[in-house]
Amino acid sequence: MTLTKDKTVNWIDALEETFPGVISRDVSLATISRWRIGGNADAVARPHDLDELARMRRYLHENGVPHVVIGATTNLLFADEGLRVLALQIGREFARIDLRDNEMVCGAGAWVPGVARQAMLAGLTGIEHTCGIPGTVGGLVCMNGGSQRRGIGEAIVEVVSVDERGRLIRRSREECGFAYRRSIFQTNGEIVAETTLTLDRSRPKGDIRRAMIGILSDRRRKFPQKLPNCGSVFVSNPAMYAEVGPPGAVIERLGFKGRKIGGAQVSPQHANFIVNNGSARAQDVQTLIGEIKAAVLAATGYDMEVEARFVRPDGILLPADRIQ
Ligand SMILES: Cc1cc2nc3c(=O)[nH]c(=O)nc-3n(C[C@H](O)[C@H](O)[C@H](O)COP(=O)(O)OP(=O)(O)OC[C@H]3O[C@@H](n4cnc5c(N)ncnc54)[C@H](O)[C@@H]3O)c2cc1C
Repeated sequence: MTLTKDKTVNWIDALEETFPGVISRDVSLATISRWRIGGNADAVARPHDLDELARMRRYLHENGVPHVVIGATTNLLFADEGLRVLALQIGREFARIDLRDNEMVCGAGAWVPGVARQAMLAGLTGIEHTCGIPGTVGGLVCMNGGSQRRGIGEAIVEVVSVDERGRLIRRSREECGFAYRRSIFQTNGEIVAETTLTLDRSRPKGDIRRAMIGILSDRRRKFPQKLPNCGSVFVSNPAMYAEVGPPGAVIERLGFKGRKIGGAQVSPQHANFIVNNGSARAQDVQTLIGEIKAAVLAATGYDMEVEARFVRPDGILLPADRIQ
């Protein structure tokens, strides 16, 4: 499908007719995104349930309508030019959580800190490390997110996803390709709809609670709280960590703390965070990331991997330092 303005209007009209009440037009990405950056999206769809998601995927496939899946946007940098394809958002309509003995079945739109809290209240241990990650379960599974060098993949028994033709797929943990901040869902075009976590009761509830409070107060102390950001910009690499330290420490040693380009600034609190001072553009963030990467490469020989993802106007996702 070519993305001229006329075609844009046509595919949105057709989509609205087929899926009434699901599409919002001309949505400001700077308003809905966590980094508060980005132009307008021509259309955002929020399917109500799994059946509608599957039907929508089939429809988009059959009609050649390009789209990109988003969750809470906590790892995304949207282009200043906005988005010319459909943003398919998996949100609170998919937030159901069911407890079955030591297992939790979580909808992809469930809020990660809420899932961690429910596990704690049920006396289940294993996902305390996720309690401060402000995203959806679907985004967390896709990124294999976690903290303290752990990833959610460790606790997963099964993921239910919807492929491009609208078919439901069940994958065991082994079939999800989990590695550090990676999963098969970053490349296979499937949308995570639900995941089953296996946890255990080996730790008293009070301990789980204390551990989570400790993690949260540590994060509050170390990470910027007030200004919009996307969490850690660069992935921590074990070899680099062992030789020269974590990205934040290396970037700080190179004098980048507080460095500003336009409205984007390396957080004065933690150098692996880039905050939006109110007027940041995606281009400011990308220039800053590029400068940092080049300086770290020159000083240490490590070419740092960028964790945050750039969403191009045509819906292609790239590491946030790249535009192609
Ligand atoms: C303050 C702050 C702190 C953070 N701390 C951490 C941390 O400690 N550890 C960590 O790992 N991350 C951290 N992050 C990053 C981010 O929260 C995680 O990557 C999160 O899991 C992303 O979830 P999301 O719903 O926001 O996904 P989005 O940012 O919307 O999307 C991220 C990726 O997942 C894909 N995606 C989203 N939903 C689905 C779905 N249902 N099916 C398939 N693909 C999907 C998107 O296409 C995109 O590629 C932090 C972010 C912030 C803002």
